[in-house]
Amino acid sequence: MLPDHDGDEATLYRARKKTANRSHVCCECGDTIKPRDQYHHAAMLFDGSWGTYKTCLACVDIGDHFTWTSRAIECLWEEMDEFVFPETDMQEIEKDCRKLREKNPDAAHKLMSEYQRYLSEREVDDADE
Ligand SMILES: [Zn+2]
Repeated sequence: MLPDHDGDEATLYRARKKTANRSHVCCECGDTIKPRDQYHHAAMLFDGSWGTYKTCLACVDIGDHFTWTSRAIECLWEEMDEFVFPETDMQEIEKDCRKLREKNPDAAHKLMSEYQRYLSEREVDDADE
């Protein structure tokens, strides 16, 4: 399946690993991709216009780990909040982090900090009720 964005399927798609020659912002987590960092670069054609999407490798590895097959763009963490984190607990996240750490320590670190963000946002929601 081709990646989609807001429900529109891309008609053409090219993705590859690149080395940054200047700073970029990850389209998933908003972190900075620093010069000389490797990142995932995707160019795709939607409705006749090309868009490019840059993703840090931590987000790519986390997406792969959770079998994020559709590769929808710009919604990894929304989907993690909606589908993954509510179905998990700290023990499971720690297990996921151990596996991710072998491949990419940054990904393990990011997953844990995003899970902690999710937990703290959930506490705020609970307090509102
Ligand atoms: Zn990222």
